Amino acid sequence: MRLRLRRLDGSTIELGVADGQFVKPEPGTGDVLDLTASYALPGLVDAHAHLQADGVAEMVAAGDPDLDEMARNAAAQLAAGVLTIADKGSKSDTTLQMLEFDPSRRPKLEMAGQIIVTPDGYYPGFGKVVAQGAAASAAASAASTPATWVKFIGDWPRRGIGPQSNFDRQQLTAAVEVAHRAGRRVAVHTMAPGTATDAVAAGVDSIEHGLFLTSDDIEVLGDRHGAWVPTIAAMEAAAESLRPGSSGQRLILEGLDNVRDLLPRAVRCGVQVMAGTDLALRHGAVATELLRLADYGLTPNEILESAILGAHDYLGFGGGLEIGAPADVVCVPGDPREDVTVLGAPSVVMRMGRIVHSA
Ligand SMILES: [Zn+2]
Repeated sequence: MRLRLRRLDGSTIELGVADGQFVKPEPGTGDVLDLTASYALPGLVDAHAHLQADGVAEMVAAGDPDLDEMARNAAAQLAAGVLTIADKGSKSDTTLQMLEFDPSRRPKLEMAGQIIVTPDGYYPGFGKVVAQGAAASAAASAASTPATWVKFIGDWPRRGIGPQSNFDRQQLTAAVEVAHRAGRRVAVHTMAPGTATDAVAAGVDSIEHGLFLTSDDIEVLGDRHGAWVPTIAAMEAAAESLRPGSSGQRLILEGLDNVRDLLPRAVRCGVQVMAGTDLALRHGAVATELLRLADYGLTPNEILESAILGAHDYLGFGGGLEIGAPADVVCVPGDPREDVTVLGAPSVVMRMGRIVHSA
């Protein structure tokens, strides 16, 4: 098969497709699929997903991860044009078996395995519970699995006293060193004041939620091209789930105001800002979070450059619309630099040469 595509700069390109890859187009061979009425992208990116479940309550209540359900969730992501996912952890390492699942039936995957928590530091019974001083040894054991990321819950509210850090800066620093030495990246969930600053100072790769990052943190994170996945839709949903006017709700809303302040600056400082659904949005609905990034001050061009093209590169897969790359393409019905909403309505999605969606 041959594809004719329109790139974002308006130029057209013809690529052959064979064995799941883009190859040199051989004139006169096979059908030509002309997709130049739309714009071609290397795929959307969901940088904070949990393939294990399709809602927070379901994930917390679930038993051991069900690989059939994960496959269904992965297929839903693919059909929506999400060709790259960072799964930010789960209840157990069973989910890591998805890494061996037929890659043409799932997005490109980076994954954390079992989430690392402290006693009372997350949903009861969820993740690997370690003592507060044991972050580095927990990172070492996570790095002995096929997981490419190590995920820590950095803070969590305690009844009557509000959010507390689970690990101090020294602990996180030691854990990051161990993970990096093993070639793994580290993500830290943080929604409370203080923890984000510790996590950035400790050298973590990605801040998840990060409601209380500071402008100094943004500079430090940007200098090392660190990542921030604010999961705005998920944070708004968390605020809505709390009693109106409660201290918990007020804290999240205060944090969201801070995100609104910092987000445009973060992109300009070199922070790798990415979009994540985090179970608040259904699998495949990352375009909804891309619109939240727009509402919080990113321009369509910044969204494209950071949360799509930049995210695609950051998550380690590279490649693109070129010979030798996996035959992955998402065609959208307009220029996303003019209208972000086109990202939610792809006309054609191809993964490794297989058309998985066509409008
Ligand atoms: Zn999450």
